[in-house]
Amino acid sequence: MNETLREAPSATEVAGHQLLLRAGFVRQMAAGVFSYLHLGQRTLQKIEAIMRQEMNALDGQEIKMPLVHPAALWQASGRWYEIDAELGRLVDRNGRSLTLALSHEETLAELARQEIHSYRQLPQMAYHIQTKWRDDPRPRAGLIRSREFTMLDSYSLDANEAGLDAQYETHFAAYFRIFARCGLPVLAVEADVGMMGGTLAHEFMYLTPIGEDTLLLCDGCGYRANRQVATFRKPENSGDVQTVQFVAELVDGEEKMEKVVTAVLPLSSQINETKLVHLLDAQRLRPTAEQATDIWVVDDGVSDWSSEANLVGDIAAAQEGDACTNCGQPLGTVRAVEVANIFKLGTRYSGTMGATFVDENDEARPIVMGSYGIGVTRLLACLAEHHQDAAGLIWPVSVAPYQVHLVALRGGEETAVTLYQNLQQAGVEVLFDDRDARPGVKFNDADLIGLPLRLTVSQRSLGAGGVEVQARAGGETAVVPLDALVIYITDWLAAAG
Ligand SMILES: [Zn+2]
Repeated sequence: MNETLREAPSATEVAGHQLLLRAGFVRQMAAGVFSYLHLGQRTLQKIEAIMRQEMNALDGQEIKMPLVHPAALWQASGRWYEIDAELGRLVDRNGRSLTLALSHEETLAELARQEIHSYRQLPQMAYHIQTKWRDDPRPRAGLIRSREFTMLDSYSLDANEAGLDAQYETHFAAYFRIFARCGLPVLAVEADVGMMGGTLAHEFMYLTPIGEDTLLLCDGCGYRANRQVATFRKPENSGDVQTVQFVAELVDGEEKMEKVVTAVLPLSSQINETKLVHLLDAQRLRPTAEQATDIWVVDDGVSDWSSEANLVGDIAAAQEGDACTNCGQPLGTVRAVEVANIFKLGTRYSGTMGATFVDENDEARPIVMGSYGIGVTRLLACLAEHHQDAAGLIWPVSVAPYQVHLVALRGGEETAVTLYQNLQQAGVEVLFDDRDARPGVKFNDADLIGLPLRLTVSQRSLGAGGVEVQARAGGETAVVPLDALVIYITDWLAAAG
C-alpha cells in the first residue's frame, strides 16, 4: 500500500504535498478528501501522541464526540442559520435533519448541560481528536486546505472569566510545546473570532509563502496580527475617497434580508471585509423602515464626510508600510498558514444552549467556555512543507513514521534480516527495504520518504567493517561495526529526539 511515485499524480502546486503524494503518505479520493497510507497514518499517530501527552499534562480528559450531530443542537446555537454551504447537512431515513461535525462546540455544550450541575464540578477540560467536515468551496494545497480533516480540539469549562483566562493561558503555552516537539516553528497572532464567536482569539501561524493568510508584524514593538483584524495609525486624509458596494445578508433568527452596504474609504485604503462585518454585527443592524434601501459605513480615516453615515468605524485593511498603532513604526507583512486557533467563547454557547451550573449562592449561571483547536492533518502538511530538500522529505525524529530505513543490498541480505530483528527487539522502529531492486532505486526512495537514518548493508559495507549509517538531515555517513550498531542507533536517536 505504499508505492512511491516518480511524479506527483496531479497538478499540485505545493512542494510538500507533492512529496507526501510521491513518497506514498497520502492519496486523494475526491476534492479535499484524502486517504492516509501506512506512512501517513504512522506520522499522524506520532503527532497525536505528542498532543495527548500535552493535553493530559493540563489535566485534560480525553473523550470522543460524534461525527454526526442532530441539527437541533446547531439550531439552538444559531449556527445552523449563520453558516451557509460550508455546513454538511443531511437527512436520515426518518426525515430528521443532521449535520456533519464542522466543529464540536455544540456537542460539548450539550454534554456540559447534561453532566455539569454545580460549581463544585468546575473547572474542567475535555479534548478529543476527531474528524471534521467543512465544505470549502476552494479546497487547495492538499491537506493544508481540505474538506475532510482531523483536529485536536479541547474545551475548557469554568465558573468565571478568571478561570477561563487561566485555562486559555495554559493552552497557549501547551500549543507552543506541541509545535516545538513536532518540529514546526510558529508565531501566535491576534485573530478574528470568526464563525466560533466569543470575545478573544489567537491563531498559531506557520510562516510560508504558500500561506493564504497575511500577517502584519511590527519590528518596533512586536505587534502581530492577522490582516483580518490588524489595526494601524490612520494618516491625515486628503479628502479623496472611494466607495465600495456590497450586498449584505442581515440575519435575524431564520429571517434573512439582503441589503446594499456602501463603504466609504480614503482613496489609498483597501476595504477589510472582516472589520466591516463586525461593525455591522456590533450595531445589530436590522432592516427597519429608515434603512429600507441602503446602509452607509464610513471609515474613521476619512476626514470630511458630512453625509448621514449610518456607521463610522475602522473598516480599512492594514497594508505593508502602514504605521503601527502602538509605536508608529512601519508594519511589515508575511504570508502564513494557520495551524491552530484558540477562542475565549465565554457564554456564547452555554448561554444559548442552557449549559448552566448552580453557583455558591444557589444561582444558575451559564458555564464559561473556551475552545482550542489544532489541525492535525494540516500540521502534517506543514511539516512536509518545512522539512524537505530536492530529494524528498526530512522528518524530525519526533514525528518520523519510522526511525530507521534499513536497505539490504547484494551480499548483505542475511545480515540485514538479523539486524532488522535486533533493532526491533531494542525498540527501534525500522522500515526494511528487502525488495529485489537496484541500489539507486532504493536510495532514491529512502531519500524521498525521509526517515532520520538510513542503514545500508551490502557486501561492500561488510567488507569495510560493518553497516553504513547515513543521517538524512546533513548527510554525514559512518561505517559502524555490527556488534556496536544497536547501541550506536539508540544513542543517536536519543540525542536527536
Ligand atoms: Zn509597533
